[in-house]
Amino acid sequence: MGVVALIGLFVVFYQYHLSTSVRFDQIADFNGGASAEDGPVLSQEEVERYVRTSKLTEEMIKSAVRRVQETNGLSPDVASTLIQQLMNHLRRNVFELPENNSKITRPVFTGRFEPSRNATSSQRSQESSSSSVSLSERTPEPLYIITPTYRRPEQIPELTRMSHTLMLVKNVHWLVIEDAAVATKQVTRLLERTGLKFEHLTAPMPEKYKQKKGAKPRGVSNRNRGLQWIRANATDGVFYFADDDNTYDIALFDEIRKTKRVSMFPVGLCTKFGLSSPIIKNEKFVGFYDGWIAGRKFPVDMAGFAVSVKFLLQRPNASMPFKAGYEEDGFLKSLAPFEPKEIEFLADNCTRVLAWHTQTKKNEPSAPLDMKLYGETNLIKLKQQIV
Ligand code: UDP
Ligand code: MN
Repeated sequence: MGVVALIGLFVVFYQYHLSTSVRFDQIADFNGGASAEDGPVLSQEEVERYVRTSKLTEEMIKSAVRRVQETNGLSPDVASTLIQQLMNHLRRNVFELPENNSKITRPVFTGRFEPSRNATSSQRSQESSSSSVSLSERTPEPLYIITPTYRRPEQIPELTRMSHTLMLVKNVHWLVIEDAAVATKQVTRLLERTGLKFEHLTAPMPEKYKQKKGAKPRGVSNRNRGLQWIRANATDGVFYFADDDNTYDIALFDEIRKTKRVSMFPVGLCTKFGLSSPIIKNEKFVGFYDGWIAGRKFPVDMAGFAVSVKFLLQRPNASMPFKAGYEEDGFLKSLAPFEPKEIEFLADNCTRVLAWHTQTKKNEPSAPLDMKLYGETNLIKLKQQIV
């Protein structure tokens, strides 16, 4: 059965690939006065669309193999070999170019909101004449977004909103970590639909903290699991703790890419001051503004800082403490040696709010459905999507 499904997967993949495939050695320099004899000329937009499609195809391969694995019991080894093989094939087609083909300018994936997309062709040719580097060289370093989440009525809408933000960001790898013993199917499906690179992990809050009265260390085991994943799998780029209920301006992600070691920036809607931010006076850091200082060395919000992967790897003991209210401070202190004077300030020297501590209204779990009344209706399917 598994073998039949595998053959099916290969057939679907090849059909899809053949229908969309354009090799880069078929792409003439779209700025450099290529004539009709030089082969087909693709516009920058077409090239960009192709690059995006390739990324999507990668995600499709992964999710198709995962589905076959779930339904037909493919062993993890075979599944990962299959993914690897298909991806290698895809990459060969996307990236390999004859070394000596100097006529060809490799296209650069510029992202959706680059002004050059609407630029005139002369502006575009000026830009690309200085940027004839390979696609892989121009892909920015990865951004690892660590998102703790847990099952509740707002979970899917929050993750939907957040995924739509991340879909606008280049080279993000979303680490979604559920405070649960078992991963939620609805969350996996949502993640697969986004086309984003993602990991869906679980890290339940230890029982002793769950039983605790009063404030609990929310999202701590999840974030520590995210750090563990990064230590095991990442070598460069930047990571950011992004709770599922906040609001993120897409400009934030280009800012945090600049992080060399530890960066900080303002967060809106935070505490009674409505704002949490480093204070800058005459271009110099003079302290922190936050409605809850509480003896913290780093009185900042979880959404107010980012850290480079390389820096984390140089701090093998850094982790987040299970101490409600002191999670940020504890984590930043665990990065020692690291002092406030070393902070890199982003968002135009902390003059722009690019992250918001939104806090969604909590909803009670929905009332059960009266099966006698609605047993044969669409409400059955809808109810499966509601907590
Ligand atoms: N969270 C969690 N388990 C919980 C409560 C919260 O994993 O029991 C996650 C939640 O999804 C969010 C983060 O931890 O991403 C912070 O939780 P919350 O938004 O409730 O805290 P607040 O922002 O109010 O401090
Ligand atoms: Mn929150």
